[in-house]
This record gives sequence, structure tokens and C-alpha cells, in this order.
Amino acid sequence: MSDTPPNFRPGTALIHGGIQRSHFGETAEALYLTSGFVYDSAEQAEATFLNEVDRYQYSRFDNPTVAMLEARLAQIEGAEACRVMASGMAAVHGALFSHLKTGDRVVASRALFGGCFWIVSTLLLRFGIEAEFVDGPDLDQWRAALAKPTQLVLLETPSNPMLEIVDIAAISKLAHAAGAIVVVDNVFATPLLQKPLDFGADVVVYSCTKHIDGQGRVLGGAVLGQRKWIEETLQPFVRNTGPTLSAFNAWLLLKGLETLKLRVDAATRNAEVIADFLATRPEVSRVWYPTRKDHPQHALAARQMSAGGTMVTFEVRGGKGGAFRAMNGFRLIALSNNLGDSKSLATHPATTTHMKIGPEERARQGITDGAIRLSVGLEDVADLTEDLARGLGELAPIAHAAE
Ligand SMILES: *Cc1c(COP(=O)(O)O)cnc(C)c1O
Repeated sequence: MSDTPPNFRPGTALIHGGIQRSHFGETAEALYLTSGFVYDSAEQAEATFLNEVDRYQYSRFDNPTVAMLEARLAQIEGAEACRVMASGMAAVHGALFSHLKTGDRVVASRALFGGCFWIVSTLLLRFGIEAEFVDGPDLDQWRAALAKPTQLVLLETPSNPMLEIVDIAAISKLAHAAGAIVVVDNVFATPLLQKPLDFGADVVVYSCTKHIDGQGRVLGGAVLGQRKWIEETLQPFVRNTGPTLSAFNAWLLLKGLETLKLRVDAATRNAEVIADFLATRPEVSRVWYPTRKDHPQHALAARQMSAGGTMVTFEVRGGKGGAFRAMNGFRLIALSNNLGDSKSLATHPATTTHMKIGPEERARQGITDGAIRLSVGLEDVADLTEDLARGLGELAPIAHAAE
């Protein structure tokens, strides 16, 4: 349901997509903070439940503000349909559990967001669903894992936190031959820098908490795909299990989308400068940024993404001690496990977001004790590089000892 022709460019759809104006003709999207809806007559209520008339019934099923957000996200992604949910993890959980049943098999790249890794490694097994992890960039491992019939493939690219790039087109071909749908967690790229559906993926999931809100206010999630799958597979699951997004949060996310392009473009420009700056520093042993020539998959990144995005990961000399000294030296960059914010945020994955997976799994994913993940924000980039230099300055004796 949308008043907007669906063929506007994404930059315009971000601002106008999906608007349904009430009879008051408000400029901004209206906030329908209501749990229920009233009927004109008992007959109309009956007709609504018989699906003979299209009316809102109950906000667990649908809500006009939430519907505007869904229509807008679908237009931006170029997807037939969208369902939004209360968090990114509710979206991933819904996408997986609405599609899968006991006896099914899932193949996933191992470099997944913590909650996604737990669902695949632990929760699926409780329901008798087999799961196999592969190293995302290694096509031979995907080929071997997808030689058996499989129902669902889950991958994240660029991955958290090491910014590995996974070949969506190649894996979608292998997955479809094995009978699987492909679900891509597209949080790091945002809907603006990478379009998984164009490369053959079937379903795209987002944590709207990240760049889509982008101002650290609310949680939200989205699942996008073909109308038939969203309506027949996902929708009954969501309607009856209730991971519904609040209309208030949907309204904030609509406002977030209006500035998404401005924010992602600006933060990406900052991230490019910062990645190049970090690479010149003696305290830094390695930098990962998708479009830098020293990224092992920069050619694939260039095919799949229109820019490298807002995340930079780097490794400082001196392991955990070195990383802690650098991070404690930041005065502007805040320490937080969140990302995609207008404020720059630094995380030490080994002791926070990726602590629970243990040292062996961290080693397999290439997450070293010196690795710092930086979510680049919208500040003046000169203040950011000065702050990074300030933190790295705390390492002077370590960098010296390593020479
Ligand atoms: C944050 C995040 C999620 C989970 O989203 P929430 O909104 O925190 O539930 C899933 N995948 C990725 C890549 C994320 O960054």
C-alpha cells in the first residue's frame, strides 16, 4: 500500500516512499500509536476477518505507520515486500524459523553477528535442524557443504568484525542448486551500498538499529524478499508469534531513512580517509577496509558494493594490552559495541562482542587480540584522525619494541 510510484530513485524513495497521508494532509508521516482499530459495524468486522475488505485490525498484525516503513524499505531495496520487526535479531529469527522445520539443513558463513551465530550453532540444533559453518570467502567449502540438499543459506557480507567479503552471486547459484533459499544479513553495507537481491539472494535482513536509525535511539529489524514468501511463509509466523515493531519506533526509523543517504555517504568518506590514515601508522599492523587495495577481496568488494562502507577494522601491535591502551586513549571516539551511529564508536571484539565464541573460533575467524572495530561516524574527520593518533600515541613504547 503506497501513494508513491515505486520507480523513484532510492535517494527519493528514502524521503517519500510509502507515505500514506491521512485526510488531515500532514507533511510528515503520521504516528498511529494505537494497538487496535474500530469497525463501523459488526458486518464490517466480519468482512475484515474474512479478508473481504482491506482494513487494519490490530497492531500486532499491521499498523499504518509500520506499513509506511515497510513500503519505503521495500522501494529502497527493490524488493517486492518487507516485514519489519522489533529488532534485527527478531528479523533473523523470523526469517529462519518461519522457513525451517525439523530435519532441514542450514549452511552458514561462520563470521556472523553474535546472535546469528548462536541461533545457527545452538538454537537450530534444539529443533533437529542440522547446521554447518563454512569460511565465507572459501568457495570450495561452500561447494562441499552445498553438495547435500539444504533448505537455507545464511551469510553476512561484509562480515562483523573482520570485513570479509562473501560472493553472493556464486553462493546463490550453489545454494539454489541444493534447494536452499539465500538469506543475506546486509547490515554493514546498508541498502544503499549493496543490493543482495540483484546478485541472486532471496531474502535480505537488516538490523534497523544500525544505520537506518543511525542516531542511537531505537531497535528495529527488517526482512525483505518476494511477496509470496513474505506473505505466505514469514507473515503467519510474525502475526502469531508477535515480534512486532512499535509504531513509535517505526516512525523514528522513517525519519532515519530520510537522512540515510547523507549519513552513509558522509561516514563512508570519513572511513576511507581513516583507513588510509591508520595504514600509515607504525602502531598499526593491519587495516581491513573492503575497497582498499590491501584487502584480500577488494576486487569482489568492488563488484558487489558501490563503496566500502562505514566500518574499519584495524590491528594494533601489542595484542590486548595494546588495543586497550589505544582505546582508553580516545577522547572523542566512544567505546561501545553498537555500530552504524552518527557518533564514532570503537569496540574490542575479542573481549566483548566475540568473547563468548571462545579463542578457537575467534582464531578461525581471524579475530586477533589486537583487533579494534571502528564504526565511523559523522564527526569532522580531522578530529577523528587526531583522536586515533592520540590513542595510538599511548602505544609508542610497544610500537618501538616491535621495530
Ligand atoms: C546488530 C546486528 C544484528 C542484530 O540486530 P539487533 O537490532 O541488535 O537485534 C544482526 N546482524 C548484524 C550484522 C548486526 O550488526
